[in-house]
Amino acid sequence: MSSSTNPTSTAYQKAVQELGLKPNIAKALEIPDRELTVEVPFRRDNGELESVIGYRVQHNNTRGPFKGGIRYHQHVDIEEVRSLATLMTWKTSLLDIPYGGGKGGIGVDPSKYSKTEIERMSRRFFRSIDPIIGVNIDIPAPDVNTNAQIMSWFMDEYSQIHGYSPAIVTGKPLELGGSEGREAATGRGTAIITREAAEKWGLELKNSKVVIQGFGNVGSYAGKFLHEYGCKIIGVSDVTGGLYNPDGLDIPSLFEYNYQNRTINGFKKGKKISNEELLALDCDFLIPAALGSAINDSNVHLINCKVIVEAANGPVTGEAANKLWDRKVPIIPDILTNAGGVTVSYFEWVQNLQQFKWTEDDVNKKLEEKMVHAFDEVFALKQQKKVPMRIASFMVAIDRVYNAYTLREG
Ligand code: NAD
Repeated sequence: MSSSTNPTSTAYQKAVQELGLKPNIAKALEIPDRELTVEVPFRRDNGELESVIGYRVQHNNTRGPFKGGIRYHQHVDIEEVRSLATLMTWKTSLLDIPYGGGKGGIGVDPSKYSKTEIERMSRRFFRSIDPIIGVNIDIPAPDVNTNAQIMSWFMDEYSQIHGYSPAIVTGKPLELGGSEGREAATGRGTAIITREAAEKWGLELKNSKVVIQGFGNVGSYAGKFLHEYGCKIIGVSDVTGGLYNPDGLDIPSLFEYNYQNRTINGFKKGKKISNEELLALDCDFLIPAALGSAINDSNVHLINCKVIVEAANGPVTGEAANKLWDRKVPIIPDILTNAGGVTVSYFEWVQNLQQFKWTEDDVNKKLEEKMVHAFDEVFALKQQKKVPMRIASFMVAIDRVYNAYTLREG
């Protein structure tokens, strides 16, 4: 990804300039603290040995232990993991969570392996990164194609060596110390941020028209909570295509259908549309909640919404963001919008350390407070400096790490 299309790198440079940071420290904060590449040998079900490559990048721990998910995908490589680890440093700082940033992954297509093969691979990977992780050092979590079951194997593997340690990973099942509210957290946070944006941009939330691209964990929960706020969700899509109803889709039924079937394909109510048509719908809020670079130079001219709320990581490229800025379409950036997940991960870790379980109500209230506070901080800085929300978010996040770094290193 070139720096002009990588919104994170462009935003970092602009934020550093706006903040007037010392270039040597700004440079130091870009460099990851540690990168580990490991060979992960594991036995296939037919008895043959196979090896895959795994990574853990620890970007920065100035404000707390490294924190970030582990992804299994054939496109995972050191560059992708590095850039996602960096993003985690800014995201945890923006929410003022006492963590740094990290990320990991294995370059593998997990759909090609059985559950027992994935278990052996996961356990071996976790043993391989054991020397650099720890409850107060680096706390992994699920990401693309990893889940609560894989976190259980990680936790078990670590606990066999170090003693019972639920706080070593987050995103665990409730039975092993997972947190109430974690599954819905990123979608809930996205809905809260959309609600706050509506207020600041003077848009009536009730009956506002919302379009959501991607109806997985994040998109479906965002849709559910926005529907509960009174929004009309007029369009949603997943990898199979989209559904449209100008009067609002039946979100409770669609949520249930999607929860059971893991797709919206086959849901009978709503007109079928393509993903391209979905992005072009006239609406108040467009919420890309699927893939990176979904809104790019080739389709940005189609966008017909009042506000974009980035629920996926990096769904608007840098070039597209510049064009939308010229058209005065605000973008609420990913590091703010989708930070609900890592926030409740942090709550899970705190509960594990305290050996005390919070109610779902406690979790949701604390999430709400954190999200609203971060939104207000970013919005105030955006107004003061007359910069886009993305740059203001990076400014808040980088400044916090910069000050902590200067205190520790200076
Ligand atoms: P998911 O796998 O549960 O859902 C992804 C959804 O996107 C699915 O509905 C899928 O069908 C759809 N999709 C895939 N390709 C598409 C395409 N070409 N067009 C339209 N839809 C398409 O994933 P998720 O956990 O909901 O994550 C979504 C995004 O949010 C990712 O970018 C992820 O990195 C980011 N994110 C997730 C979390 C979290 O807690 N789950 C936290 C932070 C960021």
